[in-house]
Amino acid sequence: MKEKKEKNPLLYERKNFWQEAPAAEIKRAMAFAGPYKDFLNQARTERESVIWTEAQLKAHKFQPLAAAKAGKRVYSIFRGKTIAMAVIGSEPISKGFNMVAAHIDAPRVDLKQNPLYEDKNSDMACMRTHYYGGIKKYQWVSTPLALHGIIVKADSSLLRVSIGDKDGEPVFIIPDLLPHLARKEQYTKNLAEAIDASKMNLVFSGMKDPGSEEKEAAKAYALKLLNQKYGISEQDFISAELQLVPATPARDAGLDASMVVGYGQDDRICAYTGLQALLANLDAKPKRTMVVYFSDKEEVGSQGSTGAHSVFIQDFIASLLKHNGEKDGSANLRQTFMNSMILSADVTAAVDPNYPNVHERQNAVLFNHGVGISKYTGSGGKYSCNDANAEFTAKVIRIFGAAGVFWQMGALGKVDEGGGGTIAYILANLGAEVIDCGTGLMGMHSLYELCSKADLYSTFAAYKAFLTTK
Ligand code: MN
Ligand code: MN
Repeated sequence: MKEKKEKNPLLYERKNFWQEAPAAEIKRAMAFAGPYKDFLNQARTERESVIWTEAQLKAHKFQPLAAAKAGKRVYSIFRGKTIAMAVIGSEPISKGFNMVAAHIDAPRVDLKQNPLYEDKNSDMACMRTHYYGGIKKYQWVSTPLALHGIIVKADSSLLRVSIGDKDGEPVFIIPDLLPHLARKEQYTKNLAEAIDASKMNLVFSGMKDPGSEEKEAAKAYALKLLNQKYGISEQDFISAELQLVPATPARDAGLDASMVVGYGQDDRICAYTGLQALLANLDAKPKRTMVVYFSDKEEVGSQGSTGAHSVFIQDFIASLLKHNGEKDGSANLRQTFMNSMILSADVTAAVDPNYPNVHERQNAVLFNHGVGISKYTGSGGKYSCNDANAEFTAKVIRIFGAAGVFWQMGALGKVDEGGGGTIAYILANLGAEVIDCGTGLMGMHSLYELCSKADLYSTFAAYKAFLTTK
């Protein structure tokens, strides 16, 4: 038998989870992915993620903060699209909280506000779309899509729509052009232009009433079906939020089933692991208050009342202070944030075997080597980034080390290759110590994002250890 070589203690080397984790941890990591896939399949939009999360919180005796008279477990939902939850610690909240902050919106294709039309050329009823976030448009054609969202009817009642995910339900398709006729339309164009956003219309339906004299009989028939099923008319679309998401469920991937492939893992993987970390710490009796925050609109710049720029998260912390009998004024709120530690829980790009050239391997995240920490994101000369302080970065590494968490430091891509941002800087602007920390994905923003179960579990373990830090 070959003797195991002594490692040079002066060298740093990241560890492979499958090779170095205890057998019981490996078993836990594999098991952890099961309910995670269920979550991905049930929470297809930010609204559905909030609904799913609230059900979990209620099952664990959390109360809505606005109504709670006492109690340590509270949460608050804002406009159905963003949610914050907390377990109040034993010391004053103004001494600082520990937060895991993820986002629950994902790139997708929305229906336009006046979407339905009868296409004169094909004689079909179609829907016009407008994409949301950074998608590669060619990925969204020729693939089964499900329609999710809400319609607020004329009588102000709210209707939840979900078509295409359940067995037996029809799905929707944006057809791609056949290769036989794509020579001029597509093959002469570059990848970004080959699929024109104005040609991403959904083929919605085609039937017509027998003997109908109606001018736009296909559109009329579609509206008749919609009215029968939902009691809506065409005008109800105008205020609706309807999103097309991949109709394909999350699944195990790889011969060893060591990976999960599925839509929306940016950033629901960090939301899920953040929530599970909080729930796993319910008996921990923490000193510092534990907060988990899911924001909306990250994929389009975090603006608006439900994005991370919104006052919602500050108001949540102020309400927590008040609930805990502490001063909720501006000065104390500022101090609270300045005393706090936050993991900006967002995914990062793992080294892709097909495109190793866009990464600098030594400073990039690899599958199976644990949760990824990014000291900074941004692009170019660290432009627009949150650059975590060395003291805090070292502290996070100590926390993970003490808890036996598999972790690695990795930047998103080579310098000047491109770049991206997270909500880290928004929370850091409030004075908190913030660092990016999340799972490495391959195929980020695609319909089939890929993660390693080792990294999924390590992300959970990292958040769990961080939340209970004293
Ligand atoms: Mn993200
Ligand atoms: Mn993203």
